[in-house]
Amino acid sequence: MVRVNNNFSKIRESYLFSEIAHKTAEYRSSHVDAKIISLGIGDVTRPLCNEVIKSLHTAVDEMGVQETFRGYGPEQGYKFLIEKIIKHDYNSRGITLDADEVFISDGAKSDLGNIGDLFDTDNLVVVTDPVYPVYVDTNIMAGRADNIMYMSCSAENNFIPTLPEKTPDIIYLCYPNNPTGTTLTKSELKKFVDFAKEKGSLILYDSAYEAFITEEDVPHSIYEIPGAKDVAIEFRSFSKTAGFTGVRCGYTVVPKTVKASAPDGSLIALNKLWNRRQCTKFNGTSYIVQRAAEAVYSPQGQKETKENIAYYLNNANFIREGLASIGMQVYGGVNAPYIWVKTPQGMGSWDFFDFLLEKCNVVVTPGVGFGPSGEGYVRMTSFGTKENCEEAIDRIKKILI
Ligand code: PLP
Repeated sequence: MVRVNNNFSKIRESYLFSEIAHKTAEYRSSHVDAKIISLGIGDVTRPLCNEVIKSLHTAVDEMGVQETFRGYGPEQGYKFLIEKIIKHDYNSRGITLDADEVFISDGAKSDLGNIGDLFDTDNLVVVTDPVYPVYVDTNIMAGRADNIMYMSCSAENNFIPTLPEKTPDIIYLCYPNNPTGTTLTKSELKKFVDFAKEKGSLILYDSAYEAFITEEDVPHSIYEIPGAKDVAIEFRSFSKTAGFTGVRCGYTVVPKTVKASAPDGSLIALNKLWNRRQCTKFNGTSYIVQRAAEAVYSPQGQKETKENIAYYLNNANFIREGLASIGMQVYGGVNAPYIWVKTPQGMGSWDFFDFLLEKCNVVVTPGVGFGPSGEGYVRMTSFGTKENCEEAIDRIKKILI
């Protein structure tokens, strides 16, 4: 009989979003007139900008004409998009990359999960707590359930992770952070890069929320830190930057200077392995989608996507300031669409969730669902409409004041 990959049995069932949906539905069934507002949305809500839509239409039309029809494209992505990425996202910050160091994909989640194919099961992995669960679950699937260490992040350490005593082989960092919305400054991130260089560790840097950065000292790319091109792989996404959660496009940067060791002690360039992995298991992101992503970099595309980000950041600011004005402890929301809120009077995350649902008809995400250090916090997101954010915060203020 065929046997399953038993590592799946070691993955903790995530009840977080199903439990939120269940509790919300239950409340709604007994309060049919309640106008429930969700500040738990982890998905964008604003439509794609015009420039992207125009580009999508053009690319679709090209596919219907003999001369411009495209079949399989390069597994690594089309040069027209890679060149724009390098120019706008990296050269503009003083970072140089070769075209074959950027790999286009259908989003950051796939790449973050697939990158594990490159590494031996025995590697020790460290993630933050709270954490975006994909890093943990994909490592468990790959057989590293017993090799995962956690770095607790809370108000007590200013949400700056402390590296464990045992040297990790792989360090996952996500900045701006989901779920806490917090960031690292350049000098804080430099400590991780220096550590990785000294110990031979690899940093997997998820900067899916880079477009939300507003503060000068917050790095957009890990490659802004000297030496990072030797020790870090960076993951980016058009999902939150340009509303592509349903369109699907992201990219991963694997500098040719990042290496890992083979059993005989020789060093292997991870760029070569990732290229091999992608060419074997992935047949490229669709031409139409890559043309849409290219449009994000046009002057009009930049203007329109930045307006959408500003809309969400304005919501984030309203949530942050509104809650702070009644004495609540709030974090994030300045360089990220997420606001991490300390529950009042030491309430548990779920108790505060129930309280907000019942008293304010507002849905949030209990922080403990992202890891034990999230207990005593809830996550609020700025992805809803301005009107809903304002009404939700007004309701919360009235009840908690
Ligand atoms: N990384 C983080 C931290 C995220 O929060 C998300 C999506 O919520 C992703 C990656 C996935 O992005 P994508 O839509 O590109 O797969």
